[in-house]
Amino acid sequence: MNGKIFTLRELYENGENQLRDAGIEEAGLDAWYLLEHVTGIGRASYYGDPKRPVSVQKAKEYLKLIHERSRHIPLQHLTGEQEFMGFPFLVNHHVLIPRQDTETLVEEALRFAEPGMKVLDLCTGSGCILISLLKLCPGLEGEGLDISREAISVARRNAERLGVEATFQESDLLERAGKNYDMIVSNPPYIRTSAIRGLQEEVRLHDPWIALDGKEDGLHFYRRIIADSIPVLKPGGILLFEIGCDQGREVADLMYNSGYSGIQIKKDLAGLDRVVSGMYNKD
Ligand code: GLN
Repeated sequence: MNGKIFTLRELYENGENQLRDAGIEEAGLDAWYLLEHVTGIGRASYYGDPKRPVSVQKAKEYLKLIHERSRHIPLQHLTGEQEFMGFPFLVNHHVLIPRQDTETLVEEALRFAEPGMKVLDLCTGSGCILISLLKLCPGLEGEGLDISREAISVARRNAERLGVEATFQESDLLERAGKNYDMIVSNPPYIRTSAIRGLQEEVRLHDPWIALDGKEDGLHFYRRIIADSIPVLKPGGILLFEIGCDQGREVADLMYNSGYSGIQIKKDLAGLDRVVSGMYNKD
């Protein structure tokens, strides 16, 4: 750039054009978020004076991020954050970036949640599901497990940053789970191995593979979690899963055949099946 001084608007337009040329879907929006991230300037202030000059150093920093985004590195890996249920979560390449679809799981869990209940979150990743539940239903007792040590460290940082008390532990599914849970929630890996190839580059190359791969038929982790959940749930305890949009029937059947009742399939905002829940009554 040879020390050229850019105005805010020139920089933004330059960024947007580069992203569009690189085939990034939301070029304008992503160029904007990165500009805000680097300069700290919000929309109102930008429109107040879009011809303001940007320092050479900030412009360089911005164009470097635009270059990385052009290579399909997810926006959230560049800003280090993703909002979920209205809370800002730290993310990195060790955790799945929280998806809006997963908010349906939190909303369903909140229908059952009451202060004093003990909740277990399996495959917790960034911790976004459990931490949101604890924020929105104070008085819940929360425990999050994940096989990845790096994910556990992200989840712990998120809990601390958002001011909630939760226990996070490295564990292969329920290996280190306690007992007597009122509720188990999970967004396990559920993509069929053969379908991962067809996902967009941001997901396929940058979300952790182990957070996506549900093995041959995509149902591997549902089978294991359903079987292992039974001895650790209280009588009347609830199990809730996020599912792939074509897995509702199969996951509901797996739960039914293991003794769960009152099974419900809920849709996400796009009208696709997204959450399966059921109650386990021991007798
Ligand atoms: N919903 C995620 C996706 O669309 C997958 C998450 C998962 O496998 N649990 O990529």
